[in-house]
Amino acid sequence: MQVSEKKFYLFALLLVLIPFITVQLAHSMSKTIIITPQEIGQGGVGLLKVHDNNKGNLEITWNKRNISLIPGVETNTHFAFIGVDLTLKPGRYKVKKTDGVYTETKIIHVYKKDYGIRRFNIPKSMEALDKKTLDRVRDESRRIRRLFLESDKTPLWEGAWIRPVHGPVVSPFGRRSIINGTERSPHSGVDLKASEGEPVKATNNGVAVLVEACFFSGLSVIIDHGGGIHSMYFHLSKALIDTGQIVKKGEIIGLSGSSGRVTGPHLHFGVRLDGARVNPIKLLDLSRGIGG
Ligand SMILES: [Zn+2]
Repeated sequence: MQVSEKKFYLFALLLVLIPFITVQLAHSMSKTIIITPQEIGQGGVGLLKVHDNNKGNLEITWNKRNISLIPGVETNTHFAFIGVDLTLKPGRYKVKKTDGVYTETKIIHVYKKDYGIRRFNIPKSMEALDKKTLDRVRDESRRIRRLFLESDKTPLWEGAWIRPVHGPVVSPFGRRSIINGTERSPHSGVDLKASEGEPVKATNNGVAVLVEACFFSGLSVIIDHGGGIHSMYFHLSKALIDTGQIVKKGEIIGLSGSSGRVTGPHLHFGVRLDGARVNPIKLLDLSRGIGG
């Protein structure tokens, strides 16, 4: 074979191989992250389905934070939730996947969401807190904030997340309150209809990290589900678990009530994803896509 012929065959071989190589590369580099939905409003949740054939260390970051994955039923698939805090600045945020071989980036659009506003007045005597109460409230919120940061990164949760009580939402997530002309923190959970003494179920597996009577939220339970996810159950009349106790999905953790600063019995149910305040109903709905 002459040199020019060799060149020709090499060239021909390349021509045949290039599309194949390109397809292989494109296949391994793209469409391995599926985000539902791709545009998320403030206070919303996203479900990531990640596919990866490489055996390297799979790592996902969202908004510059590492997020924990759980294995899916299909081989080489993983799931994770990402939380968009109620007040996260609207814009484009990166989801980055690395597996030691390839890096892939997807963009999530976060949009502004208006959850409405409620103005009402209460007697001044009820609004003012004495120094002792104020110190107590500050200490409680400081300790609770720390709990969200200390979460074990290993997920304990599995499959679909369940509703803690059957009742419908009576006070929506995210609504802002202006009391006596002053804006308060927006509603960081949903109030579910529940009469006094109704059984309250754990929304998924986890460990109880707080069982305590707090000033505003009354008798409160916080469960750490691992992987940076926490759920909260407020205004209980009775707790049926202790701090440090392992709980299973669906286990009755307490009874609903009207403890704390509330006007009547209901269950305040909240979820934090890596500390982000998100609508718990969004998490419940999206988690059906995982099954189990
Ligand atoms: Zn509430």
